[in-house]
Amino acid sequence: LEWCVSVPKVELHAHLNGSVRNSTLFELARVLGDKGVIVFSEVENVIMKDDRTLHEVFKLFDLIHILTTDHSTVTRITKEVIEDFAAENVVYLELRTTPKRNDSIGMSKRSYMDAVMEGLRAVSSVDVDYCPAGLKTNTFNGSTRKKMYVRFLLSIDRRESTEAAMETVKLALEMRDLGVVGIDLSGNPIVGNWSTFLPALKFAKEQGLYITLHCGEVPNQDEIKAMIDFLPHRIGHACCFDEENWRKLKSAKIPVEICLTSNIRTETISSIDIHHFVDLYKAKHPLVLCTDDSGVFSTSLSREYNLASSSFGLGKTEMFRLAEIAINFIFADEGVKADLRATFEEAVKKLN
Ligand code: 5GP
Repeated sequence: LEWCVSVPKVELHAHLNGSVRNSTLFELARVLGDKGVIVFSEVENVIMKDDRTLHEVFKLFDLIHILTTDHSTVTRITKEVIEDFAAENVVYLELRTTPKRNDSIGMSKRSYMDAVMEGLRAVSSVDVDYCPAGLKTNTFNGSTRKKMYVRFLLSIDRRESTEAAMETVKLALEMRDLGVVGIDLSGNPIVGNWSTFLPALKFAKEQGLYITLHCGEVPNQDEIKAMIDFLPHRIGHACCFDEENWRKLKSAKIPVEICLTSNIRTETISSIDIHHFVDLYKAKHPLVLCTDDSGVFSTSLSREYNLASSSFGLGKTEMFRLAEIAINFIFADEGVKADLRATFEEAVKKLN
């Protein structure tokens, strides 16, 4: 595991509210428990539960959202999550989150995102570059401190309407200068229809935003087919594909964000030895190891690398290559990619 921690890594599939430290969730639950908003012991049981079906995971998210959704807490968790990724040598992070509107506390999707941005600016353990090249300052200039790139993806929740999805896309366009690079479609896969989100996703793509979709978490082959036909820039999971869709995915060469622990813990994949990572890896299909929800699934990106290495018999050279190749699939420009490649070149000298 130590070696996996020391390798520079790229994280492309991490949900903000799924990556919150348990200690922070407990602290927040205690405060709300004292106020009588929730019953602490009940919440504690839910947070500590180890194995959850995909359905139960979404119930947990509703609970986490009760704990985290006010501006100052959103700021706090953003800072902590970024610092946690930095601490395990993530050199490029695409953090995704669903902008939330909550009229009762005066929260709009924009003010939610402003709170996220404030958390990013509060990060103190590393130098963070969050602006696309050519815009604003380069925080890295002259600094010898540890550095990290952070970009944001705004998630559309499958519970949302076409209008709400469109609002999220417009917000992403508005916040491009602040490091928002794309759109994610996530949320409970048995809720909502592809046709509801398609207009907003189409518009986003036309406007040059990058798109990644949660695809194939349940065996809805019609939806999987429609999603692949849309040609997103990446997809997450790709667990329940039939043969025809699998062939389509491979020939379209759409990069896949692989979340091993998440798939096993939610029972989307019954056992690690039959995980589709193996097939994609052997076929040299573009893929990237990711955490999904490091808090909810008690994992870290280093652990995911370690798990892949031990489960699929990959040595250090292959694992390093896997970490490095992820640079090709990031939603950033060539300048950032070149800088990251240099970071990996430096690292390989030190690790050997
Ligand atoms: P947030 O967007 O609130 O920062 O992060 C939590 C949200 O991410 C969840 O409410 C859910 O919409 C989405 N999410 C997290 N993990 C998963 C997952 O494994 N599958 C899907 N489909 N959505 C997820």
